[in-house]
Amino acid sequence: MRKVLKFGGSSMADARQFAKVKSIVEADPSRSVVVVSAAGKRFQEDHKLTDLLYLCHAHLQYGVACDSVWQMICDRYIEIRDQLELPTDLETEFAELRQKMDRGISQDELVSRGEYFAARLMADYLGFAFVDAAHWLVFKMDGTVDQEISYENLQRAAGGRKIVTPGFYGAMPDGAIKTFTRGGSDITGALAAAALDADVYENWTDVSGFLMADPRIVKDPDPILQITYSELRELSYIGAQVLHEGTIFPVREKNIPLNIRNTNQPDAPGTLIQESFEEQFVPDGRFITGIAGKKDFSVINLTKNGMSNEVGFLRRVLEILEQYKVSVEYLPSGIDSASFVVETARLSPCLYQILGQIEREIKPDTIHMTEDMAIVAAVGRKMVFQPGSSGRIFAALGENGINIRMITQGPEELNIIVGVDNRDFEKAIRVLYDNFVR
Ligand code: ASP
Repeated sequence: MRKVLKFGGSSMADARQFAKVKSIVEADPSRSVVVVSAAGKRFQEDHKLTDLLYLCHAHLQYGVACDSVWQMICDRYIEIRDQLELPTDLETEFAELRQKMDRGISQDELVSRGEYFAARLMADYLGFAFVDAAHWLVFKMDGTVDQEISYENLQRAAGGRKIVTPGFYGAMPDGAIKTFTRGGSDITGALAAAALDADVYENWTDVSGFLMADPRIVKDPDPILQITYSELRELSYIGAQVLHEGTIFPVREKNIPLNIRNTNQPDAPGTLIQESFEEQFVPDGRFITGIAGKKDFSVINLTKNGMSNEVGFLRRVLEILEQYKVSVEYLPSGIDSASFVVETARLSPCLYQILGQIEREIKPDTIHMTEDMAIVAAVGRKMVFQPGSSGRIFAALGENGINIRMITQGPEELNIIVGVDNRDFEKAIRVLYDNFVR
């Protein structure tokens, strides 16, 4: 059994957090590969090391002295080292890096040092081998990860050893350091898990997994214990909190479960994300995995007698929207009517051109617009096993005075999506939560 763990910035923020990481890693001998972020914030007003490094680079770029920022960076890591009484020789490396900064250093290389030093310290603290990400994670010339070579490199570099490797960066074919976009250590962790065929990828952060609804809307929502990749995609598409985009792909491809855990609450099970779960019924009656939504959609409603017999009707409308680069989110339709649900922000700049063109080219009997609509989605793989789930959802919303302006359900019965007035958005989410989760 081999587990790959990734610890985010808040888990690396200071010596106390390092100690938590150590006890988590040591609690399970199969936790043998550790990927780390740079030190994050210790308290609300604190700075992330990565932000300080970007700031430092900006100073260099504009020829402004960066010494005070640089000192803050060095001090953070020296403090961790000294408090943990580690032998890591940071001073020599800091001095070398400082010289390189004067000679000229790329932004990617400088900011990657946040992860690099964090990993060096963590390796010494855990007594694991340090494997530099630049030695295994390689990018192709087009900037995408060369998975095949990276996987081989890591297999070779890790061998059977316990290792710590920095997140967030790798090397271009010419050896130049390249970082992912912000938050990219999640991807490094996923790639390491896939490379080593891990049994699980544990992503340790400062929340106990995903929540079933936005805590700004629902008070103390329950965490999601288990969720499939498809459900997660549905929820994140319509506004729920997400992992870094690239994170899911490497582990999903290899069917490796992804477990979001909380360093500050290591006993909580967190959220387990898998391709599927074995279940045929809904023992606790909870058929919803999560609720999410987004405001500010517009709907173009068209009616035309005989529309359903007119070949190419929908295509022609979609082509007009395509010309203006407006993507259609949902498309509920009737026999002689169709509604095109689009994001208001995308539509507004070209609304009148689009309506004019539809009028001229499609010649509908009526066109009318619905504005200020919000989308609320109840997502749940278990809805398939629960007859009447959509009826119950509509009834609950209706009983609470929420006017449903659109209903759609995906063919896999993974979600039920309702359109409500923007002003009913929060209420609709609360009604769904209170009726079907609490
Ligand atoms: N340290 C980097 C950032 O702040 C990468 C990461 O933490 O995932 O974006």
